[in-house]
Amino acid sequence: MKNQDLVEFLRSSGVCEVCQLRYLKARGTEYRDIKETLQKLDVKLNGNVENKEGNEDQPAKKARLGVCTTCLGLFSKDFQMELLEGILASDFAKYDCQKIVLAICLPMSLQLRQLAMWFALQRKFGASVDSSNPPDVPIKEAVKLILHPIICEKLAKEYDANGLMINIDLTHKLEHEEVEKLVKLNKEAFPAKAAYQKRIEISRGLLEKQYQPSKVRAETFEKYFQIPGSTVEEPLKLTSIDLQGPLVCVAGRYRKLSRELSHTPWILNGQRLMEDSIEEIIIRHVGPHFTEKLDKITFMSSGREDVDVRCLGKGRPFVLEIPNAIRSCLSKDQAFKMEQAVDESGKVSILHLQVVARDELTHIKTGEEQKKKFYRALCALKEPVSVEILDKLQISVSFDIQQKTPIRVLHRRPLHTRPRTIYSVKAKVQRGNPKALVIDIVTQAGTYIKELVHGEFGRTAPSLSSIIGKPIDIQALDVVGIDLDWPPEVDNAIHTE
Ligand SMILES: [Zn+2]
Repeated sequence: MKNQDLVEFLRSSGVCEVCQLRYLKARGTEYRDIKETLQKLDVKLNGNVENKEGNEDQPAKKARLGVCTTCLGLFSKDFQMELLEGILASDFAKYDCQKIVLAICLPMSLQLRQLAMWFALQRKFGASVDSSNPPDVPIKEAVKLILHPIICEKLAKEYDANGLMINIDLTHKLEHEEVEKLVKLNKEAFPAKAAYQKRIEISRGLLEKQYQPSKVRAETFEKYFQIPGSTVEEPLKLTSIDLQGPLVCVAGRYRKLSRELSHTPWILNGQRLMEDSIEEIIIRHVGPHFTEKLDKITFMSSGREDVDVRCLGKGRPFVLEIPNAIRSCLSKDQAFKMEQAVDESGKVSILHLQVVARDELTHIKTGEEQKKKFYRALCALKEPVSVEILDKLQISVSFDIQQKTPIRVLHRRPLHTRPRTIYSVKAKVQRGNPKALVIDIVTQAGTYIKELVHGEFGRTAPSLSSIIGKPIDIQALDVVGIDLDWPPEVDNAIHTE
């Protein structure tokens, strides 16, 4: 089969120039200059293309005005304009994203026409046209090769699969009618399956898998559809454009400076028990840069503290998951301003704020149990601390405890007995108060520290209280370290602007 013969046949069947290139299996940039590529492939140009000033009633001109019988106008200049205008008329301007991706939902009519042309080429050119490998560059791939670069260029954006997603829905006047015919064809072409399945789901996937000349006979197909595809008057119709911004993840570390602040909104029986929370303070100052819908943001952290526990030291890693973001960049300058705004709350401070890749969230989501936590507890005895007591609370060899779910969290956690490892305990007497101890404790994540100290009537065993054989009361607790080295440290205060 010569390229020239193929193109002539396609032209006579009302196939547009872009689709002619698809059938010549053109690749990448070859779609940029159609004339040049056709010449390169030894195809004579259609008289009219070269001679624009030519005779008004040349037959080729007429053909060009019609809608392409294989792409239904998808690759026409008119459609590009319509698409571009549609995008600009949408909420597109709201999004401050440099990267975009088109997701086009195509009517099944296009797949049917592709098959019709496949049959037609086999009839015309015989065995040189394969029965299981399509003779053309599939429309979906061609959209990537042709439409994507054009739309990106006109909008001055870059293509990126994770960029702002432009969902484009296309229909065609004939689709409904053709799908009905397809249901009938399907029963005839695959009778065994039709008998076995009560209702056959006609889908794009089914068409892709089952509908090729090696599986459906041209004669059967032709009872319902023309070979090659019939000429049409109307092009594809653009029914909707829907934008979906990227999912942006913003990570950092927070320090909790207040003993009167919950992790997330604390609501009991519909009543707020505390007016603010770490989650809300951070989202309030970071969220608006990325979205108008703050309620859609998910706040996650590597563990959490109780309301009355501070978190000091390097702080606790956290991440905000922001869906449908209007922008995905955060400059150091902007990050620094957010850090300052959160600091002003006086209750929480944040550092190392940065946008991270989505797959980095595994740092926060997994391995929680294996992590070590570092605490400092202020504890009180009923008597002055003796040397003997102090000695018993210097433990450098790790030991295991059994911990029943504390009574105070039973309303939200199931009752279990969990083994936990305590890596070390180091106590000293608080200066100026002989009955008070400052105890540094390193534990496996997930250990309830208050119960580890006082034992909760034996529900945690052993406990520091059972080790010294005396009651201990815990008065204040700070988290002083979490052994998760993520996200990377960045100093947003240093920026060059
Ligand atoms: Zn076409």
